[in-house]
Amino acid sequence: MDKELIKEEYDRLCRTVERHNFNYYVLDDPTVEDSEYDELMRRIKRIEAENPELVSPNSPTQHVGGYALNTFEKVAHTVQMGSLQDVFTMDEVYEFDRRVKAEDKDAVYCVEPKIDGLSVSLEYENGVLVRGSTRGDGFVGEDITKNLKTIGSVPKTLTEPLPFLEVRGEVYMPRASFEKLVKSQLENDEQPAKNPRNAAAGSLRQKDSRITASRGLDIFVFNIQQIQGKTLSGHKESLDYLKTLGFHVIEGYRTFSDIAEVERRIREIGEERTGYSYDTDGAVIKADSFALRERLGSTAKTPKWAVAFKYPPEEKETTLLDIEINVGRTGALTPVAVFEPVWLAGTTVSRAVLHNQDIIDARDIRIGDRIAVRKAGEIIPEVVRSVSHAENSRPYLIPHVCPVCGSKAERDEDAAVIRCRNIDCPAQLLKNIEHFASRPAMNIDGLGEAVVKQLSDEGLINTVADLYTLDLQTLEQLPRFGKKSAANLLGSIERSKSNSPDRLLFALGIRGIGQRSAALLLEHFGSIEKLEEAEMEEISGIDGFGEVLAKSVYDALREPHMLALIERLKEYGVNTVYQSVRRSDIFAGMTFVLTGTLPDMTRDQAKALIEENGGKTSGSVSKKTTYVLAGEEAGSKLTKARELGVPVISQQEFTEMINRG
Ligand code: NAD
Repeated sequence: MDKELIKEEYDRLCRTVERHNFNYYVLDDPTVEDSEYDELMRRIKRIEAENPELVSPNSPTQHVGGYALNTFEKVAHTVQMGSLQDVFTMDEVYEFDRRVKAEDKDAVYCVEPKIDGLSVSLEYENGVLVRGSTRGDGFVGEDITKNLKTIGSVPKTLTEPLPFLEVRGEVYMPRASFEKLVKSQLENDEQPAKNPRNAAAGSLRQKDSRITASRGLDIFVFNIQQIQGKTLSGHKESLDYLKTLGFHVIEGYRTFSDIAEVERRIREIGEERTGYSYDTDGAVIKADSFALRERLGSTAKTPKWAVAFKYPPEEKETTLLDIEINVGRTGALTPVAVFEPVWLAGTTVSRAVLHNQDIIDARDIRIGDRIAVRKAGEIIPEVVRSVSHAENSRPYLIPHVCPVCGSKAERDEDAAVIRCRNIDCPAQLLKNIEHFASRPAMNIDGLGEAVVKQLSDEGLINTVADLYTLDLQTLEQLPRFGKKSAANLLGSIERSKSNSPDRLLFALGIRGIGQRSAALLLEHFGSIEKLEEAEMEEISGIDGFGEVLAKSVYDALREPHMLALIERLKEYGVNTVYQSVRRSDIFAGMTFVLTGTLPDMTRDQAKALIEENGGKTSGSVSKKTTYVLAGEEAGSKLTKARELGVPVISQQEFTEMINRG
């Protein structure tokens, strides 16, 4: 091929890979499968091998694909956090062995699973965790110490106070946590996470560490980057030692000197990996001796003493029979692929969520196509791509009509979602009622899917407020209802009237408002009525609220139908006022002043705790102030407290006071 054409193709491939890197590392939202990305990288490497003069320092083969974003403080890595050279065939593994054995014929290898997560560094001084950071571009990462501290298996102190230790590990989302996250996202009509890796990356890079804490993340540590106070000579020895320090060390690492045994172990991991409780995308083969690693050295991007064997993704081909449209609780129209059943990762699957029009377009998925399907995180079925189109097929367009009520559906301005706007749409009504009654919402027992449908079919409930008009006589005459079940249901409905109003707010199904944000709103405003009167600025000023969420609540509480519904619920006696529960009197007669940012709680939460324990809070420091509760970046109130001799306490001391009672 003409040199110029080769250069053109090379530049185009590099640009495409950079775009995928951005989607993957910055947005945590890849638009192509990893195998497709790997293929692009292979093509770039092939061109570079045949045309070495083309290789530029900007090529994706020469640097790690990530970036350090400005959202967090930056951390310069003393020891570079590189990547790994990928190999896809056993021949390449044997080639690696020849290169290593040429340097040391007695080389020993350690083989371990390659976890599909997010690379992080953890630094300890005198045995105490002082910093945790992302890989970033390998040289500069992001300081995410606060978020990493929320992961239970990240030791905050080590069993030995080594002067200094830096380890590297992979933060991942176990499959069970991923399944839970996707379930709650679907229930809230949010776009579900695509796979555990992206979910882990997105969860770890949250501004609000309480969100990170709620995501059930875990870590495997797999390398010592720097150590003082202990001499180690090999990798396996170091992993054994890390275990004794309290780390959650990568599982299943084994050493071999014979490359045939390495091959056997790679195949064995390949078979076992579907049964692991976390995602892996390969096996890593590392020279064990640190002295040998030193001699083998590194390239700009990867060490020469290790390779990552990548397993092909488990995919099956099948035929796409139809695309059905599901209508969610908030009216979102979700396309679902219905295909000929296939056996995949332990179960038969025949349906997969297709997410939205953009994804259907990007993958050009059409009814009748041969398609490739797989399971993300071995759990959630997904259509990877169209393998071939059926004859005379046409691109698929989600209809802009609600399949349930026939109303017009429109695309959201700010997202790819198409939504039915009819609030009385029966699909939304049934799901709205189920959500309203669910355990985390109004907690009404006995209102499962079938009962809701029955009551709706009988014309007894047309909105959630109608639940409070049901009576014993009517209910006990319905098929499948006895006196006892009717009385139980009514008792449960009655009890729900005195729920805390954050449950009610969550139950109303406002877009984006989950249990936690509902609680934050009521802790701040005290009642649904006060929240109805609140201005946008006050809502968005609450810690943990962004503009989008604030606007969603603000707009919802201005809609006439929503206000009318709340009025009706109030008429039936449903509680809308937040009363913090009195837990103790330990702060009785005390006045607290809050200042600065507390590490793990919002000021509203601290205020609620003070009140729950009998105390009061005030906005200014005076001689009457009992304690100033100060967090980071406390300002003039702290200075004033010191001038007046008012005791200043930290969040830790504050929680200790409560725990001691
Ligand atoms: P990599 O993920 O293939 O390998 C390096 C990483 O493996 C290290 O950062 C390390 O954290 C991790 N790792 C897990 N277990 C390990 C163990 N036991 N020992 C050592 N390291 C271990 O390389 P990369 O540069 O981080 O990412 C490139 C890969 O990411 C590509 O191969 C591709 O699959 C994927 N990617 C996909 C897209 C996309 O758009 N789909 C875009 C960019 C990257």
